[in-house]
Amino acid sequence: MKNYPKFFENDILTFKKTHPCGGNTWRVIRPGVDMKLECTTCKRIIIMPRIEVYKKIKPQPKAKE
Ligand SMILES: [Zn+2]
Repeated sequence: MKNYPKFFENDILTFKKTHPCGGNTWRVIRPGVDMKLECTTCKRIIIMPRIEVYKKIKPQPKAKE
């Protein structure tokens, strides 16, 4: 089983596909099974199942520790 990253509030996610507004980064407003995301470009808010988010994001750069 693949090890998926965990998401936290205010994480910035990069999607493979761009939003109609031209942006492709989303800020996590609420993590969980259904995630609430805000487009950082147009501020539109969407709710998406986490499993769908995993399919749509680019591999995230690892945070420096
Ligand atoms: Zn947008």
